[in-house]
Amino acid sequence: MEKGDDGVAKARIADLPDDSLPAGDVTVRVEFSTLNYKDGLCLSANGGGLVRNYPHVPGIDFAGVVEASDDPRYAPGDRVVLTGWRVGEAHWGGYATLARVKADWLVPLPDGLTARQAMAVGTAGFTSMLAVMALEDHGLTPDKGEVLVTGAAGGVGSVAVAILARLGYQVAAVTGRPEAESYLRDLGATRLIARADLAETVKRPLEAETWAGCVDAVGGAMLARVLGQMKYQASVAAVGLAGGAGLPASVIPFLLRGVNLLGIDSVMRPYADRVRAWDRIASDLPMEKLENMIQPATLSDLPDLGAAILKGGVQGRVVVDVTA
Ligand code: NDP
Repeated sequence: MEKGDDGVAKARIADLPDDSLPAGDVTVRVEFSTLNYKDGLCLSANGGGLVRNYPHVPGIDFAGVVEASDDPRYAPGDRVVLTGWRVGEAHWGGYATLARVKADWLVPLPDGLTARQAMAVGTAGFTSMLAVMALEDHGLTPDKGEVLVTGAAGGVGSVAVAILARLGYQVAAVTGRPEAESYLRDLGATRLIARADLAETVKRPLEAETWAGCVDAVGGAMLARVLGQMKYQASVAAVGLAGGAGLPASVIPFLLRGVNLLGIDSVMRPYADRVRAWDRIASDLPMEKLENMIQPATLSDLPDLGAAILKGGVQGRVVVDVTA
């Protein structure tokens, strides 16, 4: 991304010398990257308020093979994945064939997961796994009842639906895209809920106790509404703000139903949690379902896809072959 005299950032594919890479102790030959909502922001004309310095290489996630390492934990040939740590925002990211980063930010790719699959997961899927783990840590089990996933046809939502279904949960998927019904049912959703049914702001602080858990990618009025529909002592994992950062809610569900609102951050997540989540992804995310979510792309597709994801117009997970 480069900023012109007009102050507008524009995307361009360019050959850069290796010595232009930022400082770091591990150089990775990137094989695949992906597209998250945040990438859409970083690809936008003002960098979404996340990118401060230009020229900039976006791409908040990547997977590939270590090319060179000054850190004893990594050697050339090791397969690695990176999400978060503000890579692709404050530090050059994965929309390139080479990336140089801190060893602390990397995670060894778990056995059984390819770089392409890891990027089909990406930050979105990694965060879904963290959300499911948080719900489990707060007592969620399949016998407790239906689990709600909002923003279900998006990246976070799609992976959450597939993981929860694989773990034996009944999954209710909220979507604004009626045409995504068969896609979501194939991922394992057992009930579809129209976005409009949950979009209205809270009128009554408590409604019928309906959901045993929720992975929420939407925030805003929908999250506020869902809080009042949770079962006694059930938890909501708040992941995203696709529907707004505000929370026009009542505290009544917390006080009268013991509902928990669990914040999920994937960016600064400590290493041990990352390894645990990637291992769970390798074991609990059905790879054939993941395959159904993939929209393949190349670097030249990214400006259009970045604009589309900001409008909620990308289904599932984009996988970017940076070498194509
Ligand atoms: P996507 O755009 O792929 O998915 C978001 C989905 O939300 C859309 O597909 C759509 O689903 C739904 N949606 C979009 N706009 C609205 C709206 N106005 N009202 C209600 N629903 C809406 O993005 P991601 O899945 O990559 O990310 C989802 C959110 O999670 C983002 O806000 C992102 O910033 C956040 N996030 C947070 C992370 C963290 O560490 N906490 C990590 C990763 C993501 P449908 O079409 O089915 O209705």
